[in-house]
Amino acid sequence: MMRKPVTLLLFVAVLAGLFAFSGKKDPGGKRGKQKSVLATIVVDAGHGGPARGARGLISYEADIALAISLKLGQRIQEAFPETRVVYTRTSDTVFGVNVDARTANRMRAELANEVKGDLFLSIHCNATPQKAGGWYAKRVVGHTTKTITVGKGSKKRKKTVRVPIYENYWVKNERHGTETYIWAADRSGVKSTFINPEESAEFTQDSGAAYAPPDLNSPEARIRAQLYEKKYFGKSLTLANMVEEEFAKGGRLSGGVKQRNWEQIWVLQATGMPSILVETGFITNEEEEKYLNSEQGQSEVVESIITALRRYKETLEGAVAPRPETTSAAVVDSTAKP
Ligand SMILES: [Zn+2]
Repeated sequence: MMRKPVTLLLFVAVLAGLFAFSGKKDPGGKRGKQKSVLATIVVDAGHGGPARGARGLISYEADIALAISLKLGQRIQEAFPETRVVYTRTSDTVFGVNVDARTANRMRAELANEVKGDLFLSIHCNATPQKAGGWYAKRVVGHTTKTITVGKGSKKRKKTVRVPIYENYWVKNERHGTETYIWAADRSGVKSTFINPEESAEFTQDSGAAYAPPDLNSPEARIRAQLYEKKYFGKSLTLANMVEEEFAKGGRLSGGVKQRNWEQIWVLQATGMPSILVETGFITNEEEEKYLNSEQGQSEVVESIITALRRYKETLEGAVAPRPETTSAAVVDSTAKP
């Protein structure tokens, strides 16, 4: 209880610090120009502090997410000079304090709402529950016979038994590609169902007990859910589709857009704005982890998102008719007819 005012004070202090990072304090200026449709973008590097995120062979998700987020923020500033970028973190810690993941997510949402963001962009890496890189497994490749001694004392005798011959073989952790998450619209009005845990691969790695499910049935949460469905779901889906389409155009394997109600992505609906969570690749795939740690890989990820943002902005500005709402993901399908 005593710690709360300190945390709050720190939060305010850090908030002020984060504002200093943003390029323009008064987007659009006082010249009477119309406010940009993307006046403020909140760039959120996933995890951080004690939450390292998923683990690869050479890196942690928290570090890749931060590197990509900082590059992304910089590129947004170049590509959209009228946009103010606000980061949820610019160092390893979240808000300069070591808080647990759940508190950190609440602070992320508070910040995004505080700065009245027009978009919340969360950057993560995916993972499978299996070991990064791969693992050894055993298989039977044949049989041989072996003589063993059975019985005790005078009853001792030899016996021939058939035994399998095992071979160790390497199982590569193959899963790779991108996915973009949005908070599923609660169309039925009933409590959103939590999706089976084995699907939430990366989130099972470090979530642990720190995440107690936020109360999705509180009156406040229900109002927020309705607001999200009405105002932000469609835009979130539009942008998420564009991001996945751009990844696919850049040669990545796109896993498409996923609508989920995981407690771990609760932050997406807690922010009163369109919001997406981009899984930039699998940290548990050796090649993809290297790619995500490389300058080239990070730049390509960033440029795909920037192109998607450009298209999204044009759609918002009405220059381009919005594509029909679809839940289908932008997946490259080699079997598709031209
Ligand atoms: Zn993550």
